[in-house]
Amino acid sequence: MEIEIDTGRCIGAAMCTRHAPEVFTQDDEGVVELLPGGAARADDPLVREAALACPVQAITVDAG
Ligand code: SF4
Repeated sequence: MEIEIDTGRCIGAAMCTRHAPEVFTQDDEGVVELLPGGAARADDPLVREAALACPVQAITVDAG
């Protein structure tokens, strides 16, 4: 499992950081970033919730 983030798509809506604050953070401009170790938590249901909550589908959880 892998978490992919599309920073070009991110509009800084902060849904991901609200749902999974231990996995996602935002830079000074509000663009999503993975926290250190965040990528290892792809199985966490909160990550899936964050991906579903993102209004622009900037987060994908890849089974590969
Ligand atoms: S929820 Fe989506 S748009 Fe909002 S900060 Fe996270 S990745 Fe960006």
